[in-house]
Amino acid sequence: MLADPYDAILLDLDGVLYRWPEPIPGAADAVAALREAGKRIAFVTNNSSRTPVQVIERLASAGVEAKPEEVVTSALATATVLAERGIGSAFVIGEEGLLEALTQAGIAVVNASSHDVDIVVVGFDRGADYTKLKDASVLVERGAGLVASNADASFPAPGGESWPGAGALLAAIETTTGTRGEVFGKPETPLFERALASAGGGRPLVVGDRLDTDIAGASRLGWDSALVLTGDARREDVESSPWKPTFVIADVADLA
Ligand SMILES: [Mg+2]
Repeated sequence: MLADPYDAILLDLDGVLYRWPEPIPGAADAVAALREAGKRIAFVTNNSSRTPVQVIERLASAGVEAKPEEVVTSALATATVLAERGIGSAFVIGEEGLLEALTQAGIAVVNASSHDVDIVVVGFDRGADYTKLKDASVLVERGAGLVASNADASFPAPGGESWPGAGALLAAIETTTGTRGEVFGKPETPLFERALASAGGGRPLVVGDRLDTDIAGASRLGWDSALVLTGDARREDVESSPWKPTFVIADVADLA
């Protein structure tokens, strides 16, 4: 099978395993076949709003079985890096997935009036409002760091609408303060590195539907990648893209 030379298969979710709420035909069987062939799997998502348990529920409704330790979100990658750096406290624009990841990594989530805020962390947040953006900006102006779980410009909402994503919220704070935030999700490398570590290392294959995130990130790391055509990118997009996948496949079933 195409996946034979690889130890760890890092699978993107939306556009690869499902196009929410529809599963991609053959995806569940492909994941099962990869497992049977002894491949270690990581389910890798840029969305920081869901906890691993919530991601597993989503995968299950698409027929894909996953264990909590196989799920790697941009929230977990962010928490891992910040904990390694000794960050103690954070003001967060984000939802449950980000709040839980930071707390479990030993980082205190504090409110804007706290006297001790090391860093402002931005993720997708459907409850973000002017007060949160103002408070985050003031904290950065006072010297707190600025990071984001991911910088997706938009969130693909049901019905094909695009809603402001984490990147749009980050941009509001960057525009206000003139400070650029550091990003940990795709196409930046920390999320991929955390995913490979979770999958036990070895030789990775990144599988995704977006050239500018999944394939770009793999390219930066010098890792092989497979672009599936069940999501964002079309075959003709590859030629004009600065990021070239190792393989272009119709769908995730072609891996197995
Ligand atoms: Mg995707």
